[in-house]
Amino acid sequence: MEVLLPQPRGFCAGVQMAVECLDRVIARYGAPVFAYHQIVHNRHVVASFERRGVRFVDDVTQVPRGAVVVFSAHGVSPEVRAAAEQRCLKVIDATCPLVTKVHTEARRFAGEGYVVAFIGHRGHDETQGVLGEAADRIVVLESVADAESLVLAPQQRLAYLTQTTFSVSETAAIVAALLRRFPHARGPSKSDICYATENRQGAVRQWSRDCDLALVIGSDNSSNTRRLVETGQASGIPAHRIDGAGDIDPRWLRGVDRVLVTAGASVPESLVDEVVGWFADRHPDCVVSRVGETEDVTFRLPVEVRDSVPRQVRSPQLRPEAEAMALPSGEHGLL
Ligand code: SF4
Repeated sequence: MEVLLPQPRGFCAGVQMAVECLDRVIARYGAPVFAYHQIVHNRHVVASFERRGVRFVDDVTQVPRGAVVVFSAHGVSPEVRAAAEQRCLKVIDATCPLVTKVHTEARRFAGEGYVVAFIGHRGHDETQGVLGEAADRIVVLESVADAESLVLAPQQRLAYLTQTTFSVSETAAIVAALLRRFPHARGPSKSDICYATENRQGAVRQWSRDCDLALVIGSDNSSNTRRLVETGQASGIPAHRIDGAGDIDPRWLRGVDRVLVTAGASVPESLVDEVVGWFADRHPDCVVSRVGETEDVTFRLPVEVRDSVPRQVRSPQLRPEAEAMALPSGEHGLL
């Protein structure tokens, strides 16, 4: 049995920043701390923060007036910001800068009179936040069929944007369908699908060719995790999402010599270690191969928590190298 661990996998720069931010908010302001939406879409990370006194809410009216609230990595609509201001909340914004970029583009296109086709999943936190920028001018497209049935008023100009964690191949198909019907549609200057999504999907596409099975660690509400499962399946091998080693069904392993194990962008490396341990316990001669290249991207922490805090307060799920990446050296920025 061989376990193939492709790089990159697991925590992206946006997730590292958001997790580190919440760590520091707990240290600075003390529990309870409120977070609007799950800080990142991983139930282990969320449960760990809940044990440390973080209360996750889906409505800012659930936050006591004047309290500290952290916005999750997925971004929020202007309406939520206004509601937080009305309640005199102290907001610390852990929105990933790559999500903020999509908000800025949505505002710009809508302000210039375009209808914006947003390629993403209805109901996802990121989609909801972007929709809030101009709900009357943004339509959500989830599929090629949605693009083919889009109806625009005559002379209406069209632009399109993408959820950062959407499938690279599906996005290409939807954009192609849009451009066939609306050749003058404008897109973002650079793809909205973020580097982390592209790289993780690319690694699965590349390495699953050599494997019999793919296991993708990540929670059900993690968009990029689900896209990794689909990427494995599209490569022609069975692929399953697991939240941790406890979800592995031994029947999946019948006739399997080499299994690819990867993790969505909101998954700490400790869960990958747990899965590797599961294989090592059952297959003592199991070989673990690490392949591919690591990423070198970091994002600045929100200014309110940029000063250093004692190391012992940091999240236990962060492995040492992840912590090192997330710490502000004073020079970190959007690379
Ligand atoms: Fe940011 Fe991409 Fe990570 Fe989302 S997946 S938090 S957009 S880097």
